[in-house]
Order: sequence, then structure tokens, then C-alpha cells
Amino acid sequence: MREIGHFISGREVAGTSGRTADVFNPATGEITGKVALASAAEVNQAVAVANAAWPAWAAMPSLRRARVMFKFKELLERDRRELAALITAEHGKVLSDAEGEVQRGTEVVEFACGIPHLLRGEFTESVGTGIDAWSVRQPLGVVAGITPFNFPVMVPLWMIPVALACGNCFILKPSEKDPSASLKLAALLKEAGLPDGVFTVLQGDRVAVETLLAHPDIQAVSFVGSTPIAESVYRAGTATGKRVQALGGAKNHLVVMPDADLDDATDALMGAAYGSAGERCMAVSVAVAVGNVADRLIAKLEPRIRALKVGPGTDPEAEMGPLVTREHREKVKGYVDIGEKEGAKLVVDGRGLSLQGYENGFFIGGSLFDNVTTDMRIYKEEIFGPVLAVVRAPDMASAARMINEHQFGNGVALFTADGGAARDFAAGIKVGMIGINVPIPVPMAFHSFGGWKRSIFGDHHMHGAEGVRFYSRYKAITQRWPSGSRRGAEFIMPTLGR
Ligand code: NAD
Repeated sequence: MREIGHFISGREVAGTSGRTADVFNPATGEITGKVALASAAEVNQAVAVANAAWPAWAAMPSLRRARVMFKFKELLERDRRELAALITAEHGKVLSDAEGEVQRGTEVVEFACGIPHLLRGEFTESVGTGIDAWSVRQPLGVVAGITPFNFPVMVPLWMIPVALACGNCFILKPSEKDPSASLKLAALLKEAGLPDGVFTVLQGDRVAVETLLAHPDIQAVSFVGSTPIAESVYRAGTATGKRVQALGGAKNHLVVMPDADLDDATDALMGAAYGSAGERCMAVSVAVAVGNVADRLIAKLEPRIRALKVGPGTDPEAEMGPLVTREHREKVKGYVDIGEKEGAKLVVDGRGLSLQGYENGFFIGGSLFDNVTTDMRIYKEEIFGPVLAVVRAPDMASAARMINEHQFGNGVALFTADGGAARDFAAGIKVGMIGINVPIPVPMAFHSFGGWKRSIFGDHHMHGAEGVRFYSRYKAITQRWPSGSRRGAEFIMPTLGR
């Protein structure tokens, strides 16, 4: 049984609160570790350590901070397999997908290597006679990140490299469901030359989160997780004057137009709905079949879903692993029950799946519903499992209307052969990330990631230029050096011609 502790002052330390949570191998159902849950006193101590480390880190030239990021990137590449194995062991996703997650996170580190350029200010000579003005972006101080279970490496890496490169100290509160990868990230940052105290890992639950949100020395909070928690983190953090970006849940639609290539659309739906067992905030959970497309689409999807290869994440043949916990699997099963009661047609039922040798694992098969309507809970709520709902729509306008009226607005995809229709769709749709013939339109590290509506609270998306703005404060300087003649006291606003 592994004891999973914190990382404070450049080393792993055991928890002292006396509270722990079980960590499981989702493929076998076995408890593999006990993760410490920080007390308020441990949080306060960690914040004090970070605060003490901050002035020297903030004063370090950005070029030298960038060199730590270069080294960190090299080390992530060196140990990507080890990181992927840690993810699979506690999250359950298949190894190749876990490696992809490490890769996407590493790309944000790559982006942060350009921080000297990204932090450059602007200069205007002679804004007035003998007066110059310029702007700079300065770090905030100690900032915190609270992350979900579904991407234990990539989501922390949306935040950490940009925050550190901007000159902040960072405290990560990872998900208690798959905490081990966070300690590996901490070890690699230390090996890359990051000074002790600049990066901290505090394992924990709501006690740690609430203490961070109330702490006067935490300047900003980045949160990714479910919508109810995102909203409460946003309210609590902003109430104490912090910057907060809080990304929440999703219900992503993929619209299939009658002119779309149906084989392409079917491939796209299979990967986007069932990859990582649907536990992605950009997973597609609604297929909107426009016009007469639904019957043909379902005829193509049904055999593919029945043939999905479900297995432990370590099996190279597996396309989909288990869900993260037994409770989550019961919740997803419960939604399939609800869909049946609501009158949707259950075309494929994944509830009965049992894998020989893995009977205690948290597995569930892929499910498919047809004739789902917008008043059903299985349409309105996030299920976060391998359950795809097909909604039939008469035309593009009604498809767009239903998407715009949905509470979530994270991602959306449109499959069509009509460029003009695609352009209008992208321009008018109320969603943060749009894919045209691309099922999971996750922006690259040098763009920014985020949804609209109840998929985000706060106004900055993650990484890219938005991330740099979030983790730095703008300052404008106006300067005049007296050159002989005194102007005397001025009691009015300067006017033209002076
Ligand atoms: P979650 O909201 O349960 O947990 C997220 C984090 O909040 C964890 O660190 C957890 O310890 C903490 N937390 C949980 N309950 C808390 C409470 N009552 N008070 C304070 N903190 C609390 O989310 P999850 O189940 O780990 O992750 C899945 C969710 O995350 C899904 O809704 C998914 O859509 C969302 N997600 C969104 C994005 C995005 O970019 N929008 C990305 C990944 C995941």
C-alpha cells in the first residue's frame, strides 16, 4: 500500500492531518494507495513556504525561468512512459491515450519556453513633450490550481508552466482520485532546477480547497472540474478578491448534416464518445442527426459500439478502459436507467458488461440512445461516461438553436461538406471551441482552451495568450526626466497644445 503525501519545500512529506482517502486501480478494483488529505494548518504552512520563495523567483530574469522550462520539457519527454503508467494505474485510461495526455501537457511547457517574448511590454516614445510611456506585465505572487481526476497530467500542465514562467509560485491541489502523477511532476520540476518552494503539491479535498480560497496570500485560483464546484470556487475566490478562472462541465454536441461523409462522422463519434470511456470534458455525448441522417448513422454506429474493445488500460488492444471509481460507474449506469424511464430508445446497453479476470474492476460497456429529446435529463445533464445520445433535428437552424439553449458551451463539432454553412455555424454558435469536421477541437497550447456559458466562470481561458494575461498583472509607466526648465505646479488636466 503506497502512502501518497505532499510536496513542500522541494521534497515529499507525509501528511499530518490523520485524514486519508483510498486510491484504487480501476481495472481491478483494488486499493493501491492512501492519499493524505491536507488540514488547514498544512495548507497555511505550505502557503508560507511559497510566499517566502516568491520574491527571488519573481526577480529572476524571465530568460532564466524559461531555461528551467526547457529542461522540464526535456525531462517530461524522457519520463513520458513512466508518467503515462502512473495515469493508467490510478485513472484507468488506456496507456496510449495517457501518453497522448502527457504529450499535450508537454506542449504547454514548450509554449512557456517563449515567456521572455510573451511578457514583453509596449513602449511609446514621446507621449508628451519629453515624456515616454511603456507597459509591463508582472507576476501576481502565489497562485493555486485545483484539478480534476480525468487529466491528472495535462490539466495541471495547462496551468503550471505558464504560471511559473510568468514568475509566480504555484500550489497544485490535484484530484484525490489519481494523485501520484502530481508528485512525479514535482520531482521533474526540481530536477529541472526549479528553486525549492516555488512549486508545491498539497493533496486534499474540500478542506484544502476552502483554505486556499480564503487565504489572503493566494492571489489567483485556476480551477477545472464539475460545474457546481467551479461555480462555488469562483464565488468564494472572487469574494476574497482573487482572480479566478473556473472551468466546469460540458455536454458537447456533434452535428451530422445530410451532406456529411457518414463513415467519417461515425469514426469521429466512436473516438469522441467512447475514447477514455467518455471521461473527457471535450467528449461528444450528443449526436445531432439532421434531416434524414439518423437511421443510417445509427446503423453504422450500433455494430461498432457492440464491438468496442473494453479492457484494462495496460492491454494494448483495449480501446476503452474502466471508469475511475465504483461510485462513478454506478452514477453512469443510473443515467442509462433514467434514459430508459424517460422514454429514449436504448439501442446498445453497456450496463451488463463483465470482464473475465477483472470482475471487480469499474468497467461498463458503451451505450447508445436514439430518440432523445431536449427535455430529458440524459440530454440536459453531464453523464461523463460512455453514453451517446442521438437527437433528431429537422434542419441546421434547429440544431443550432438547441445547442445555443443548452446550459453548457464547452465544445461543439459540425460534420458537413458545405463550407458556407460551416462558416455561419461557427460564427453564430454560443460555444467556446468549435470543430468543423474535427470531433474534439481542443486548441493547441499556443491558442487558449475554454468554454462558454456554464462551462466556465471567470473571463480567461487556459494557456496561450489568455493564460499569460491571467497569470500576470498589467502595469503602465509614464516617465519624464526634467531637462532644465521647470513647469511649476499644474492644477488642470493637460490640454492640447501644451
Ligand atoms: P470535481 O468537481 O468533483 O473535482 C474537481 C476538483 O475539485 C478536485 O480537485 C476535487 O478534489 C475538488 N473538489 C471536489 N469537491 C469539492 C468541494 N465540495 N469543494 C471544494 N473542492 C472540491 O470534478 P472531477 O470529477 O474530478 O472531474 C470531472 C469534471 O471535470 C467533469 O464535470 C468534467 O467535465 C470537468 N472537466 C472540465 C474541463 C474543462 O476544461 N472544462 C476539463 C476536465 C474536466
